[in-house]
Amino acid sequence: MLAALPQTQCTRCGYPDCAAYAQAIADAQTPINRCPPGGAEGVQRLALLTGQAALPLDPAYGTEGPRQMAFIDEDWCIGCTLCLKACPVDAIIGSSKTMHTVLEAHCTGCELCIPVCPVDCILLEPASGGQTGWAAWSEAQATAARDRHAQHVRRGKPEALPQTEPLPPAHAMEQRAATPIDSRRTIVEAALARARARRAPS
Ligand code: SF4
Ligand code: SF4
Repeated sequence: MLAALPQTQCTRCGYPDCAAYAQAIADAQTPINRCPPGGAEGVQRLALLTGQAALPLDPAYGTEGPRQMAFIDEDWCIGCTLCLKACPVDAIIGSSKTMHTVLEAHCTGCELCIPVCPVDCILLEPASGGQTGWAAWSEAQATAARDRHAQHVRRGKPEALPQTEPLPPAHAMEQRAATPIDSRRTIVEAALARARARRAPS
């Protein structure tokens, strides 16, 4: 079942990663039409495996569209490392107080890094032309993302993955992106102050 999912680890299905959604499908706990990155073809794949009808994607969990890729506006990055921790496939490199960069070859377009950036310097750009779903994402890319996520989990980076019950779609990404330490507020306030200072006319 897991191999039928695209391994973007985006959490849009309401589960903390593709493996958790695959397990829930295998356990007949959830419908097969909640994975926007897999698109209609992904639903077909799951329908074949489960014997269920290939329903249209449930729009409450997102819509099928071209794959995107994150990039960091390095002029504004303050090196807070929050995105580093949020990325489920370790596609971002950088260290504290240094500029961060997205490794394009590894970015799945999950968007989980976007909400954590305190200075909004992570942007998305189209990465697949007009292609969507599995037409925009190869088996090799899915396998690589699956391996990188497994490595990421082994290293213990995900900070908000304990839940096994699905979250409502509107809350899933927020939970996944959340940094559960109080110091985040301090980091964010300091970052915003510095960003404002840099943006102020001299
Ligand atoms: S760089 Fe951002 S969009 Fe790309 S995989 Fe990592 S968290 Fe997702
Ligand atoms: S979250 Fe934003 S500011 Fe912080 S390291 Fe990442 S890109 Fe830079």
